[in-house]
Amino acid sequence: MAFCKTVWSGVHILPNGDVRLCSINNDATNESGVGRDKDGNVINILTHDFAQAINSDKHLAVRSADLQDESTWHSMCSCCEHKELATNSNKDPDSGFVSRRFYLDSVVSTDINADNFSNYSVDGTVQYAPSSLDLRFGNLCNQACVQCGPFYSNKWYADWEVYGEPTGWGPSLTHLKENELGKIVKENEVRWWESDIWWNKFTQILPSITHIYLTGGEPMVVSEHERLLDTIIDAGYAPQVFLEYDSNCTAIKSNLFEKWAKFKKVHIRASMDAIQNRYELIRYGGKWETFTKNIKKIQELSKETNGRVALTAVSSCYQMSTLFSMVEAEDWCNNNGFKFHMRFVDSPFVHSVNYLPPNAKRELIDFYSKYPDSTTAQTIINYLKSIDDKWELSHVAGYIKFMDALDARRNTNWKEVLPDVWNFLKKYKISFIIKR
Ligand code: SF4
Ligand code: SF4
Repeated sequence: MAFCKTVWSGVHILPNGDVRLCSINNDATNESGVGRDKDGNVINILTHDFAQAINSDKHLAVRSADLQDESTWHSMCSCCEHKELATNSNKDPDSGFVSRRFYLDSVVSTDINADNFSNYSVDGTVQYAPSSLDLRFGNLCNQACVQCGPFYSNKWYADWEVYGEPTGWGPSLTHLKENELGKIVKENEVRWWESDIWWNKFTQILPSITHIYLTGGEPMVVSEHERLLDTIIDAGYAPQVFLEYDSNCTAIKSNLFEKWAKFKKVHIRASMDAIQNRYELIRYGGKWETFTKNIKKIQELSKETNGRVALTAVSSCYQMSTLFSMVEAEDWCNNNGFKFHMRFVDSPFVHSVNYLPPNAKRELIDFYSKYPDSTTAQTIINYLKSIDDKWELSHVAGYIKFMDALDARRNTNWKEVLPDVWNFLKKYKISFIIKR
């Protein structure tokens, strides 16, 4: 397996407290990376300790693969495999076009590396505490982006019927119900990030922590986010901790800069996906004017921290809703002094470009070939070529059905805002499938 630091040194905690291999692995045959203990129980941070979390069955599976053959990829890591194919194995963490594996390699400080990992384990089990945490303090969010869902955003509850079924990862799902007041709420919500059990476990492993990744829900709207920063600062560990955020940047308080300046480094990526009315449709609840004003302000405030705090990139996901608009988004960033960062959505399946038929993928390749100077275009071309052999029209048709249903609830009009996407799908006669 291609060595990855988070497999050997990291623990990802989902909004419901369950543990997962990392935030991007997505292999349904392996429960999307959600970890189980030796007895087959799902590992949750309130019921299990970090020694069990870092030795989940999914961590063990990938580490065992590493120990047997470091040159092949485990199926749980296909997203990084595809990203590295698309980016020609670019390793520059600041480029915006880098796999999660290579990015983490540059920001996680640990003695374990690609040359010596086999010294730390015989069978995949390890005896040390994690040095990297990937945390979701619940699903509190002020947006309801189309490619997201109730598992990561409580703003999505109002439209949960569009999903019509629990959402989440493997066995870690969010079940919603209507309460006696007619309000949609989460069933059996456990607010693990408010529990002393979590905070005690966290402070015990804090001396080994060198990297923490925080993202949605929206990390900046959860009060425990500041408690986390204060706990690390008060314990004297801030200078060794690299903080990394993906944030929608609509709710960043300026007092955070004073705290962040005490950390080793802080990287913030602002989630954009598309510009103007496309932004407002995709990142539902977000206002383009507010977003652009905020990221410019963050950029200004960052300058006062002498480079410790940086808005490193503006991030956009290549997905069905952005089929033709990625170069436009990249251009906007270039023209406004922001670095562009791109990702590929591979789930929910209806939002992924992976399932388009080969002739549609070829048309997209032709479209992006018109931009030879754009790194984004070249990365998309490489990506589409790497996934040319798989398609599933029911997922593509599912996108149309999904967006129509959202329109009906949100009073939006995706066909008007994204005419290029709608005309493209019409041309490939994908819409007829949903009428059968
Ligand atoms: S290689 Fe990629 S997908 Fe696999 S654990 Fe590392 S970051 Fe996650
Ligand atoms: S801001 Fe993040 S967590 Fe909130 S809805 Fe959008 S993608 Fe989901």
